[in-house]
Amino acid sequence: MSAKFQSPKGVHDVLPDDHLFFSYIKKIVRHRCRQSGFRRITTPLFENVDVFTRSLGESTDIVEKEMFLMESKSGKKLALKPEGTAGVVRAYLQHGMAQLPQPVELYYIEPHFRYNRPQKGRYRQFHQFGFEVIGEADPAIDAQVIFLAHQINADLGIADKLSLQLNTIGSLESRQKYKEDLVSFYTGKERSLCEDCKKRLHKNPLRLLDCKEEDCQILASMAPKFDSVMDDASKEHYALVKEYLDELGVPYTENPTLVRGLDYYSHTVFEFWSQSEGAQNATGGGGRYDGLVEEMGGQPTPAIGYAAGIERLIDYIKEAGIRPPNKDRVQVFVAQLGLPAKKKALPLLNALREKGINTVGAVGKDSLKAQVGLADKMNARYALIMGQIEVKENTMILRDMERGSQETISFDDAVDRMVELFGDNTIDENKLWEE
Ligand code: AMP
Repeated sequence: MSAKFQSPKGVHDVLPDDHLFFSYIKKIVRHRCRQSGFRRITTPLFENVDVFTRSLGESTDIVEKEMFLMESKSGKKLALKPEGTAGVVRAYLQHGMAQLPQPVELYYIEPHFRYNRPQKGRYRQFHQFGFEVIGEADPAIDAQVIFLAHQINADLGIADKLSLQLNTIGSLESRQKYKEDLVSFYTGKERSLCEDCKKRLHKNPLRLLDCKEEDCQILASMAPKFDSVMDDASKEHYALVKEYLDELGVPYTENPTLVRGLDYYSHTVFEFWSQSEGAQNATGGGGRYDGLVEEMGGQPTPAIGYAAGIERLIDYIKEAGIRPPNKDRVQVFVAQLGLPAKKKALPLLNALREKGINTVGAVGKDSLKAQVGLADKMNARYALIMGQIEVKENTMILRDMERGSQETISFDDAVDRMVELFGDNTIDENKLWEE
């Protein structure tokens, strides 16, 4: 029988087994980002809607169809954040980060919301990690951001399953010129375009190049190429990005049709695609957004960023057969029978936990046999068992749950014996400050 209440369409619970994967990815992201000088930022789950309409572009899919909109009691229009960059740039400007030494390097790990048609790997609430480098135009930064993304894929064990797609969409000026060329190319051919592309032609002609409809793709292959209008500075920037990637040993495939959906991009754009399942299954993507800070009211400030979808990464990690370490595993199960045993067991549980040993204690009045059965179901590594005789003799039975063997030990030695087996993992107070 299905439960009375179900989660809303397109959103999902992250259950304990999936949290092992989440924690694993977050740990790698934090480690790699910190190592490269990035600091973490968390922006609110919702913003004033213009933060997104202004930055992503009025005619993008996200703004036109995919935002979760709300209105405050005073009538202010708000939106749940569909992506991370706009909020980070808003925060950069709001908190005067332009006055800090540049570039400012920030990373985030956050839920995002898009009202799209749910399917495998596409949800209405999903998690992304991302990073942004704001305040530096040098192409070496592009290569470093791409390298960091690649390195995280490698740490996760899936770099060789993904192919890095790379393109440049040039400076804002050359892009403007290119848009005009595209509009004149398509004018008169509208009848061959799908309904979406007909609408997009005057609002966002670049989008016609990555439409998936067959007729649109045929026309796109005949459309003028961006090369014809790209200025020399953009060409040089792109050439250097490729040279640096070669130096760093990051393989890439040049893909002249990759444009990324949002208005704020310029110059370098990139995505990681699954080798096996085609273009829809990107795990992450990013690019330069040199015009965005100014568009949002700041001084002209070059910037670049990347974001990856955690749920999609988890799918690929699982497919590759990778299991992250199970930090949740019960290491010791304490079984006891009778009030005197229970009284002795309680401080023992705490003493073991203080040593960083995952310990579970039965508190019910079940027989010892039933309690050991429970330890087995929980996949506990060891059981410490105390019945009436053991209480009287100040001993415990130490049972190896994997081997099925057991021995009697002194109650006073129990903590030391467990520390011998699992190590002393008492929390280092300094480490408490680490996220
Ligand atoms: P985007 O900036 O839209 O390319 O998003 C970056 C990454 O976030 C994508 O490559 C996906 O891995 C992930 N992503 C985007 N939208 C969704 C979604 N609706 N559900 C799950 N993951 C998503």
